[in-house]
Amino acid sequence: MNSENKLCVYNTITRKKELFEPINPPFVGMYVCGPTVYGDAHLGNCRTFVSYDLMYRYLLHLGYRVRYVRNITDVGHLVNDADEGDDKIAKKARMEKLEPMEIVQRYTLGFRDVMQKFNTLPPSIEPTATGHILEQIEMTQKLIDNGYAYSVNGSVYFDVIKYNQKFQYGKLSGRVIEELIKTERDLDGQEEKKNTIDFALWKLAKPEHIMRWTSPWGKGFPGWHLECSVMSTKYLGSPFDIHGGGMDLKFPHHECEIAQNVGAEGSEPVKYWLHTNMLTVGGQRMGKSLGNYISPDQLFTGDHKMLSKSYSPMTVRFFMLQTHYASTLDFSDEALKASEKGFRKILNGLKTIKELSYQEKQDIFDEALNKDIEQLSSLCYEGMNDDFNSPKLIANLFNLLKYINSFHNKVLNIGALKPENFILLKTTFITFVENILGLKEEKNNNPNMLDDVLKTLLDTYSEAKNRKDYATVDLIRKEIKKQGILIKDTKEGVEWSYEE
Ligand code: AMP
Ligand code: ZN
Repeated sequence: MNSENKLCVYNTITRKKELFEPINPPFVGMYVCGPTVYGDAHLGNCRTFVSYDLMYRYLLHLGYRVRYVRNITDVGHLVNDADEGDDKIAKKARMEKLEPMEIVQRYTLGFRDVMQKFNTLPPSIEPTATGHILEQIEMTQKLIDNGYAYSVNGSVYFDVIKYNQKFQYGKLSGRVIEELIKTERDLDGQEEKKNTIDFALWKLAKPEHIMRWTSPWGKGFPGWHLECSVMSTKYLGSPFDIHGGGMDLKFPHHECEIAQNVGAEGSEPVKYWLHTNMLTVGGQRMGKSLGNYISPDQLFTGDHKMLSKSYSPMTVRFFMLQTHYASTLDFSDEALKASEKGFRKILNGLKTIKELSYQEKQDIFDEALNKDIEQLSSLCYEGMNDDFNSPKLIANLFNLLKYINSFHNKVLNIGALKPENFILLKTTFITFVENILGLKEEKNNNPNMLDDVLKTLLDTYSEAKNRKDYATVDLIRKEIKKQGILIKDTKEGVEWSYEE
């Protein structure tokens, strides 16, 4: 375990910053509500998953053995939060005349691809709701047996009022049950429920509902909240350490999850609830249904009316990490441009520190300089220990970068550093940038880069030939042949082909 470990996290349920003390160290269980795979992930979704990737990476860095579970919602998420209407996936499948599982497959692969572009580490387990129908039926039965759920006409609902007599419904989101009862609208199809605030554990499938399974209550499908209660505790035990998701999931999703787990097992499922804040556009939450949706691909190609140019995945990742996960982050072209500049500075810093050579010069050791490097390095940890405060970390990395550049430009003599502090500077900068912020060079992300470089080389070759500079001509020929490429002089000009 790293000795610097004094990580504090803001716990939504206690509304306090708390020292992070895992239930069973060095193991840490972390569950994050994953995507509902009925469409492409938008940038808002990506922000949430990049935030948890930062946490995952830092916990690993601190030496914890993290089991990171991020589910795929492939059934049960209805268009309407009040347990009525179509299943989002089934609706999309009908519109496109495809099997629901074709929709699931397409958008799951798309999601993984985008997550990889953002350099997020894959979760340890990526369970699906449809893969855990039996366990969901079991939990529903347990809730009926414990008296917290009732079945009506083939559907099963959670009895919130009954639960609230013994436990507290609303403690995570701070909602008061009396207020909820007053404000909850009576929607069509709700008459089966004892109370409008009750929520579905299992729904009877109407004839047009194509995703359905056999259950003790008839053919139906699970409610959306149930899958996370089941899959989190199945893989992480109860209680487990961290449960995450976007702020918009606090209510009703996470509130219902707590009620289900407590109702079934009698104890709280989660020690630390962590919620990420929203990515906004002009102050409004980015959402699929709100029409202010920007996809990662639109950013990577620049093909969107709000963008003046394209931005690389790592620039966008850096843009996200420049704001603390619990603050809102407003999207704009200007902000991205500024992030691109900042990110390039960091990249140049990486290159410089990797190439910087060090020679000890004991006669010029500078105490103040050495202290500063030590302090800035520990401030990087302090930033991250302060509830994964990446902007604080980045500010300190920029301070370290000033030193790196001063050593490189010989404004400061690197020999004035003690050898251990040169190593500290180098490892701190590289580790925090690459391993914790998860930033990397993107040579391979520009698919045209090789073509562009080859074209420049061939142009230089032609120019040299016109000048009758045969030494350069031969040099280019020889060097490029090493890469398996042959240059051919034709009447039309210069061509290249692969060496056979
Ligand atoms: P969904 O696929 O809509 O269920 O959302 C997947 C995850 O993205 C959830 O954790 C949401 O809370 C989160 N999310 C949705 N919209 C945004 C947004 N605008 N900013 C940040 N996170 C979001
Ligand atoms: Zn969930």
